[in-house]
Amino acid sequence: MKQETIDALRHQAIPDQGLLIHGQWVASLSGQSLPAVSPIDGQTLCQLAVACAEDVDLAVQSARRSFESGVWSRMAPAQRKQILHRIAQRIEAHHAELAVLGVRDNGTEIAMAWKAEPGSAAATFHYYAECVDKINGEIAPTPEGTLGLIHKEPVGVVAAIVPWNFPLMIGAWKIAPALAAGNSVVLKPSEEASLSLLRLAQLCLDAGLPPGVLNVVTGTGAVAGEALARHMDVDILSFTGSGPVGRLLLKASAESNLKRVYLELGGKSPNIVFDDAPDLAQAAKVSAMGIYRNSGQVCVAGSRLLVQRSVHDEFVARLLKIAASLRVGDPLDVTTEIGAISNRAQLVRNQQAVHRASEQGARLRVGGEVISPVAGGYYMTPALFDQVTPDMALARDEVFGPVLAVLPFDDEDHGLHLANDSVYGLASAVWTGNLSRAHRMVRNLKAGVVHVNTYGGPDITVPLGGVRQSGNGHDKSMHAMDKYLDLKTAWIQL
Ligand code: NAD
Repeated sequence: MKQETIDALRHQAIPDQGLLIHGQWVASLSGQSLPAVSPIDGQTLCQLAVACAEDVDLAVQSARRSFESGVWSRMAPAQRKQILHRIAQRIEAHHAELAVLGVRDNGTEIAMAWKAEPGSAAATFHYYAECVDKINGEIAPTPEGTLGLIHKEPVGVVAAIVPWNFPLMIGAWKIAPALAAGNSVVLKPSEEASLSLLRLAQLCLDAGLPPGVLNVVTGTGAVAGEALARHMDVDILSFTGSGPVGRLLLKASAESNLKRVYLELGGKSPNIVFDDAPDLAQAAKVSAMGIYRNSGQVCVAGSRLLVQRSVHDEFVARLLKIAASLRVGDPLDVTTEIGAISNRAQLVRNQQAVHRASEQGARLRVGGEVISPVAGGYYMTPALFDQVTPDMALARDEVFGPVLAVLPFDDEDHGLHLANDSVYGLASAVWTGNLSRAHRMVRNLKAGVVHVNTYGGPDITVPLGGVRQSGNGHDKSMHAMDKYLDLKTAWIQL
C-alpha cells in the first residue's frame, strides 16, 4: 500500500452508475437517481440509479431465468470453481482501485480498507471456489431393500441486502457462497456505499459469470429493498444491517412467499478485562482499536468495556492516552488511524448518543467532538465514557460510532452477568491469563464470537453470526454454504 498509488486514484472521475440486469448496465425505469456523497469532503462522486419495484422485478426475473436455464446452476462444478477463482483474481488485479473507490464512498481509513475490503473479498471468492466441488450428497443408513439418497441442491434466487460498512467484504460473504452453491443472485447495496460493489459486479462479468447470475439494483431500502423482500419469486433473503430493518424483512417474508430470511444484525459487544490479563498494555491497545477502528462502524465492535474494579483506573488511564492520540483524518492518507464517519446521518446519530450519555450521568473523559480535518467531511474524535451504569442507553443500545462505554465489575460472576445483560449476542472478548476462566467464559457468554486475549481478526475459515437479537444466520466458513443449499430426499425401493 503506497501513498503514490492511492493519490493517483483518489481524484479519478467516476461515471454515473446504472443497474445491472441480465448482464447489461441499464438506467432505472423510474428515471431517478441519487448522489453518491463522499464522507471525506461531502462532495458528490457520481449519481446512482434509483431502482423502482419494476426494476427489481426485472432483476428477479433475470435471476430466475438464468437459474432455470442451468447456465450456472447446472454448470460442471469444476467450471464454476474456475470462474469463482477468476473473480478472485480480478479483485486482486484491481486491489488498489477497489480499495480507493470504496474509501471515497464510505470513509474507512485506507490502512484498514486495504485488507478488509478487496483483500477479504478476494480471499472469500477463492475460499468458496474451493467449496464448489466438495459439496457431497449422502447415502442414508436405510434398511435392506431401500436406498435413501440426500441430494444437496441450489435453492434458486437469492436476494442479498448489505450495509455501508465494509460493503465489498460483506457483499462477498453473501455472493460467493450463494454462487458456489449454484444459485442466481440479486444484490442490493446500501445507498450510502454502492460503488465498490458495482465495480465488483463488472469484474464478475469480465471473469465469465453468465448474464443474469448476478444482478445489482441500487437505490433506497424503502423501495428497492422492500420490493426484494416482498417479491414472490425470491427464495432466500440474506441480510446484513440494522435490527429494525431486519424486523421489517421478517414481516415482508411472512406477508409474501415465506422466503427464508437470514439476518446478521447489530450488537453491543462486551469486552471483558480481568485483573489477571497477561498484558494490560497490549489489552488496552487492542481494545482501543476493537472499538475505534473504522470509527466504530463495525458490527462486532467491542463497544461495552467491562473492567475488573482492581485494574479499572489503570486500564482506563491507558485507554484515554491511546484514544487521545489516535490520528483522525483523511481516510486516504496511509498514516490516518481513524477515517471519516460514513454519512452525515450517522454523524448526527453519534452526536445524539454522546449527548444522551452525558444527560444520563455518564462521564465523558475524552473525545466525542465533531472535527474537520478535511473541509466538508464528517469526522468525530474517539469518545470514552466511564461511570456508565447498566441501565443507561449507552450500555444497552448500539451506537455504531466511535463511542466506548466503560463499566466496572467485581468478580467473574458479576462480569459475566453484566456481559450477558443485553438483547444482543454478536461478539465478545475475554482478557485473562487463567485458562480455566477463559474456557468458562467461552461457554457461558451468550455471543456468536468469543475472542480470548485479542479482539477482531477471525478469518474466512470460521463463521460469523449472532444469537438473540443479533441475528440468526452465519456468514463465512463452510457453514455458510448450508444457507444456500436445499436438501432433497430420494427414497428408492430396490
Ligand atoms: P440498515 O439496516 O439501515 O441498512 C442495511 C441495508 O438494508 C441497506 O442496503 C438498506 O438500503 C437496506 N434497507 C433499509 N431499509 C430497508 C427496508 N425497509 N427494506 C429492505 N431493505 C432496507 O443498516 P446500515 O445502517 O446500512 O448498517 C448498520 C447496521 O448494520 C448496524 O446495526 C450494524 O451493526 C449492522 N451490521 C451487522 C453486521 C453483522 O455481520 N452482524 C455487519 C455489518 C453491519
